[in-house]
Amino acid sequence: MTLQEQIKSRISKQHCLGCKVAFGVNILWGISNYFIFSENKWTYVTINLCVAAIILTSIIIRTRLKISGENMGLIAMLSTLTAFAYIYNTADLIAFQKLTFTHAAAFIGAGMFLLWHYKYSIISVAYAILINSLYYFLFSKINIDDYLIQGALMVMTTAFFMVVSIQVRYALTIKEIEANIRLSENQRLLKQSSEQHKVLFNENPIPMLICSIETDKILKINFKAEQAYGYNLKEFKKLSILDLHLSEDRLEAQRNFSSDKSNVRSIWSHQKKDATIMEVEIIEKIIDYKGRPSRLLSINDITNVKNYEKKLIRAKQEAEKSKEMQSQFLSNMSHEIRTPMNGIIGITRILQNTEMDKEQKHFLNAIIKSSENLMVIINDILDFSKIDAGKVTIEKTEFDLDNLLTVNQEIMAIKAQEKGIYLTVDKDPSVPNWIIGDPVRLNQILTNLVGNAIKFTETGGVNIAVKTIESTQTTSKIKFSVSDTGIGIPSDKIDDIFKSFTQASDSTTRTHGGTGLGLTISKQLVELQDGQIWIESEFGKGSTFNFVITYSHAIQNTENNNKTIVLKKITNEKILEELKGINILLVEDHPINQMLAIKVLTDWGFNVDLAENGLISLKMVGEKEYDLILMDISMPEMDGYTATKEIRSGAHTSYSQIPIVAMTASALIGENQKCFKAGMNDYITKPFDPQNLLEKISNQVISKLKRA
Ligand code: ADP
Repeated sequence: MTLQEQIKSRISKQHCLGCKVAFGVNILWGISNYFIFSENKWTYVTINLCVAAIILTSIIIRTRLKISGENMGLIAMLSTLTAFAYIYNTADLIAFQKLTFTHAAAFIGAGMFLLWHYKYSIISVAYAILINSLYYFLFSKINIDDYLIQGALMVMTTAFFMVVSIQVRYALTIKEIEANIRLSENQRLLKQSSEQHKVLFNENPIPMLICSIETDKILKINFKAEQAYGYNLKEFKKLSILDLHLSEDRLEAQRNFSSDKSNVRSIWSHQKKDATIMEVEIIEKIIDYKGRPSRLLSINDITNVKNYEKKLIRAKQEAEKSKEMQSQFLSNMSHEIRTPMNGIIGITRILQNTEMDKEQKHFLNAIIKSSENLMVIINDILDFSKIDAGKVTIEKTEFDLDNLLTVNQEIMAIKAQEKGIYLTVDKDPSVPNWIIGDPVRLNQILTNLVGNAIKFTETGGVNIAVKTIESTQTTSKIKFSVSDTGIGIPSDKIDDIFKSFTQASDSTTRTHGGTGLGLTISKQLVELQDGQIWIESEFGKGSTFNFVITYSHAIQNTENNNKTIVLKKITNEKILEELKGINILLVEDHPINQMLAIKVLTDWGFNVDLAENGLISLKMVGEKEYDLILMDISMPEMDGYTATKEIRSGAHTSYSQIPIVAMTASALIGENQKCFKAGMNDYITKPFDPQNLLEKISNQVISKLKRA
C-alpha cells in the first residue's frame, strides 16, 4: 500500500463514523419531532427514509462510478438542497413542518460532506449556522411557540458542534497520521539504507577501514580487511592507520592524510600482522561516521601487479642490456674485421704502385675489388643492426645539396664509366640549395640506390632527378628519383623488395653479389627522416626508386660554400706542395696499421712521429709542436676519446687547440658524434681511402693555418 492509499483508508474509516453520528442525530431529531407533532408522523417517517435512501444511493453511485469524494459531496449537497427547496416552496406546509424540513436539509448536507471529505465540514458548519439564523427570523415572526424554537435550536447547535468537534479531531488525527506515516516511512528507508551500507561495507570484497580524521585511529574495519592484514577488530582498534605504513613512509603518509581532500588515490606499502609487505592502492573518501567526519579507506591489494611490474622492468633492463651487449659486440666485430681489412686494402694499394707484370696487376685488382665488396657487406650489416636496435639519430645540419649531389655523382660515375653507361643529375632550379637535414644519411640513401641502379643496368644509364613537390616559406618537400634502364623488377617482387635480405631473384646474388640489405637500410633511413620511399618498375625496361624528404631552408652559408669549392679545385699536387713538411703525430697501436699509415704519410712528404697509445701521445704533444694528430680510438692504456679530452683540457694553448682527426675501425652510425663530442675535429674510418685522408688533413691544417 502506498502512503496515499494508507492515509485514504484511515480517513475514510473515520469519515464513516462521522457520517453515522450525523445520520443518527438526524434520525433522533426526526423521531423527536414525531412525538412533538404527532399529527404529521408520516411526513417525518417519509423524510427520514428519503434521507437514508439518498445517502445509500450516493454511496453506491460513488463506489460504482469511482467518482472522487469531493465531487460526489458537491453533487449530493446540491441535489438535496434542490429537493428540499422544492418541497418547501410548493407544498402547503405548516410552519413546524417547514422548520423540520430546514433542519433535515442542514443535517443531510452536513452528513453528506462528512461522508466524503473533512474539508467540507467547515462549509457545512457555516451552512447550518446560516440556516438556523434564517429559521429563527422566519419563524419568530409568525408567532411560534418559543419553547419549540429554543429546543430545536439547542438540539441543532449541539449536533453541529459535535460534528465540528469530530471533524477538528479528524483533521488533527489525519495530520498526525500523515506525519507518522511519513516519519515511519523515512525511518524505514533510513534503516534500509543503513542496513544496505552495513552489508556493502562488511561484505565488500575489498578491504575497507574507517579511521578518525583527528587521531588517525582505526574505528571500523570490514571482514576483508581482517583477512588481508591478519589483525582482528580488537587489535585493529588499537592501531592508527599510520601503524600500517612502513616506518620510513609514515611521515609522508601523515602529510598525505592531513591534506583534507576526498577521493584521493595513493600507492603505499603496508605491513601485515605477520610482517609481510602488501603493496596497496588506497582510495580515500571523507564520510560522516557516527556524526563525525572520518576517512573511509578502500584498500586495493596490488602486490601482484607491482611484482609483475618489477618483473617487467627487470626483463626490460635485461633486454636493454642484451641489446647493449649486441651493439658492443657489433662495435667490437667491426673493429676486429676492419683492422685487418685496413691492412689488406692499404697495403694492396701501396703494392699497386710497385713494379708488377700484367697478371700480378690483375690479381691485385681482384684483391682490391673483393676487399671493397667485403667492406660494403660489413658496413651494411653494421648499419642494419644499428638501425634495428633503434640507435640511429638523424642529424640536423645545414648543407649544400648541390655539392652533395656533385660529389656523389663524381664518385658513382667511376663505376658507371667502368660499365660504359651514363650517370646524369637533373636538379630542378626550384629546389633550394642550402637546406637543413642529415647530409650523411641522404648521401647514404643515394649511394645505395644509385649503386643498385648501376649494378643492375647493362645498357643506357642512370639518372638522378631532384625536384620540389611542395613548399612553404620555411620548408621544401624534395623528391629524389633514381631511374635506370636496367633489368627492372618483376611486379610480384616489388612489394617484398624493401624487406631485409630480399633479392628480386635468387640468381641476383650469384651475378651481382649483395646482401639484400641496401634497400631495407635506405627505407629505414628515409622513414627516420619522416619521408616515404617507393618503386616504379617495369620488368626488363628499368626501375625508378623515388623518395621524398621534407627539409627546412637554411640561410646560405658562404664560408662553407667557399671552402668546398676551394677544396674541389685544388689538385693533389698543390695540396702536397702546401703541406710539405708538416708534423703529424700518429697515435696507433696496431703494427700493420702503423706501418701502412706511416708509409702513406711519409710518401706525401709529411714528418710522422708514432705514439703507441693515448697515454704516450699526451707526453709527446707536450714535447713537440704538431700540426695534426691522427688518433686511433681503441688502444691499450688510454683510448682515443680520453686522450683527446685530456689534450683539449690541457693548460697549454700550444697543443690544446691542435687539430685531431679520428681514425677508427668502428664504422657504427653515431661513432662520428662520439668523436666530435670528445673534441675531435674530424673522423675517418679504417680502412681509409688515402685521397679522403689527404683531404681531411689538408682541410684541418689549412684552416688551422688560416686561424693562425
Ligand atoms: P642488394 O643489392 O645488396 O642485394 P638491396 O636491398 O639493395 O640489396 O636490393 C635488393 C634487391 O632488389 C636486389 O637484389 C635486386 O634484386 C633488387 N633491385 C634493387 N635495385 C634494383 C634496380 N635498380 N633494378 C633492378 N633490381 C633492383
